[in-house]
Amino acid sequence: MTPDWRRRTADWRLRTVCDAVLSVLLAPACAACGAPLEHPTRGPVCEPCWSSILPLTPPLCDACGDPLPSWRAISVPAFRCARCRRMTRPIRRCRAIGEYDGALRAILHALKYDGRRSLARPLASRMREQGAAILEGADAVVPVPLHPSRRRERGFNQAHDLARHLGVRVSTALERVRPTVPQVSLAAARRHRNVRDAFAPTRAAAALSGKIVVLVDDVSTTGATLDACARVLEENGVGEVRALTAARVVTRPR
Ligand SMILES: [Zn+2]
Ligand SMILES: [Zn+2]
Repeated sequence: MTPDWRRRTADWRLRTVCDAVLSVLLAPACAACGAPLEHPTRGPVCEPCWSSILPLTPPLCDACGDPLPSWRAISVPAFRCARCRRMTRPIRRCRAIGEYDGALRAILHALKYDGRRSLARPLASRMREQGAAILEGADAVVPVPLHPSRRRERGFNQAHDLARHLGVRVSTALERVRPTVPQVSLAAARRHRNVRDAFAPTRAAAALSGKIVVLVDDVSTTGATLDACARVLEENGVGEVRALTAARVVTRPR
């Protein structure tokens, strides 16, 4: 038996014992579905919840990341959904792990509203997988900022927690200078107005001139928040803005 192997076996035994003791004594529940956790040392969400997340699969709109109805519906070479063909967006490409629904939605709620910050790392590792093309060649990731009052109330910015684990330098190049109502609570038409002039560059923005930057957030709804952030970065000389979010509210073609 090699010392390394022996250590791993001991580690595994210890984890099994800890799991057994914790699940009997504390009976912790999965932060997403509420079922008792069999392996509490592996984190606050159960395996079935993680594996029930359905990734968004191609064909996807190149610009916003929404699923496209079928290969035939795409007007080549514009690999874009009807909405993105109608407007020019400052974000070249956007991707998410999956739809803002089911287990993914519950996991994001646990992170954001129950303060289960340890969920940021496993979420970010899925974002790295699904967004490998978005992160490729990126010089920095920029978390979508919270307004200071919201940040104080929550104690952390979930977008910053996710950005920290993406393997690219984090730049806090943006700040939210005006409090806004949550986008999810608004009709699509009002979302752009809600975030207009809400963001401003910080001193860190100067270092991003000519660079490739990836905006990071937990959820993207219509993309209005990401667009508003991207415009500020573009006005400050950023070369290319992409976006990566944990979840996306998908607009189904009618
Ligand atoms: Zn669960
Ligand atoms: Zn699109």
